[in-house]
Amino acid sequence: AQNFGLQHLSSGHFLRENIKASTEVGEMAKQYIEKSLLVPDHVITYLMMSELENRCGQHWLLDGFPRTLGQAEALDKICEVDLVISLNIPFETLKDRLSRRWIHPPSGRVYNLDFNPPHVHGIDDVTGEPLVQQEDDKPEAVAARLRQYKDVAKPVIELYKSRGVLHQFSGTETNKIWPYVYTLFSNKITPIQSKEESGRFFTCSIVCVVLVLCPN
Ligand code: AMP
Repeated sequence: AQNFGLQHLSSGHFLRENIKASTEVGEMAKQYIEKSLLVPDHVITYLMMSELENRCGQHWLLDGFPRTLGQAEALDKICEVDLVISLNIPFETLKDRLSRRWIHPPSGRVYNLDFNPPHVHGIDDVTGEPLVQQEDDKPEAVAARLRQYKDVAKPVIELYKSRGVLHQFSGTETNKIWPYVYTLFSNKITPIQSKEESGRFFTCSIVCVVLVLCPN
């Protein structure tokens, strides 16, 4: 997102913000996230539609949404999807990577102990506040949600494949996949940073569907 000046909109991040602020959506979503289940379509769709409406006229990179066919259909009603990326990463790799993910809840900053560690273990680089490991990133929870996500993601992948906007990448290492993703994006949008400048890593969107949207 940084390289192309896109708004990075993560459904997981919005949900965590709502849980923290104890909003009605947050209260509803909490019980599902704690059990590593997908939040029901009507809840996440309501949340994402209001976030997207607030950002009309900008280019977005959606991360973690849509994860089901129902969500994809809701998204269709408000915009046209330009590009969909599906990252095919082996379950074991995702499980390991997610279990090493720690976050700073107030800001949503995400760290990974392997490739994006905080300067001081367990402490946020910017504020010095403690980091936490979310319940849904613990190994048992990750395995459960990977199983569920794979099944519901299949029709979403098929939908975008049939529209000719899907691009699939396989691998275990972000820095090997990243040059291909960068080239693909460059054909659609002018980059504002070179690919070497970013040092970006996919923080692991489980369904691995990332969308670039250019609203009308
Ligand atoms: P993430 O940070 O993308 O891994 O999302 C964290 C959790 O939020 C997931 O395990 C789900 O419980 C929930 N969540 C995020 N995005 C969605 C979505 N599009 N549909 C349903 N649940 C979601």
